[in-house]
Amino acid sequence: MTKIEKAKLLKHLYQYQSLGFEYFKDYKPLHVNQNQQLPKSLDELEKKVKECHLCSLAKSRKNIVFGEGNKNAKLMFIGEGPGANEDESGRPFVGRAGMLLTKIIENVLELKREDIYITNIVKCRPPNNRVPLIEEVASCKPYLLEQIGIINPKIIVALGSTSYHHLTGEYDVAISKIRGEILELGNAKLIPTYHPSFLLRNPSAKKDVFADMLKVKNLL
Ligand code: URA
Repeated sequence: MTKIEKAKLLKHLYQYQSLGFEYFKDYKPLHVNQNQQLPKSLDELEKKVKECHLCSLAKSRKNIVFGEGNKNAKLMFIGEGPGANEDESGRPFVGRAGMLLTKIIENVLELKREDIYITNIVKCRPPNNRVPLIEEVASCKPYLLEQIGIINPKIIVALGSTSYHHLTGEYDVAISKIRGEILELGNAKLIPTYHPSFLLRNPSAKKDVFADMLKVKNLL
């Protein structure tokens, strides 16, 4: 069982505990994997996410930010979660970090934003841009896994530690140690790198992302 699945199971057990249950003999986690019930087209999946109220982020969102780009993209970027600009517009990476990401795509990868698919670990904005909680990620991750399955990219770039940690379940590995490595994630190669927001605060790390993107370019 993955860490996400364990977190979901724990959430269910806490729900039962709050209803007065004290003991479970042989508990079978029926709801841990939602994937089977999810639509197999991106448009239908997006409709499902628009109606999602599985976690408390649904209460404060203005818009869901499902993801955008080429539905047959070879390359997928996965960030952490929408910020204020993204929540307002319903589009991923449109603020300052997004402008930097677009520059990286155009100037280093020599591609257009529309060639790539861009999404996030969670589809709704966490209040005050805090890191999404494990239960929020657990509720949202089936949507992401379905997106990855439908698009079937050759390469996934995990933008930042939250994305890397939740994609791999390797919560103890620092992004500074693992960035630029070429890893396996299902059918895809996974390359973690720094998040563009980190680059805005630490411009000296741009050279590392430049090196990581050259690896991506060579693998495409
Ligand atoms: N940061 C993210 O991780 N995702 C966005 O969509 C915007 C900023």
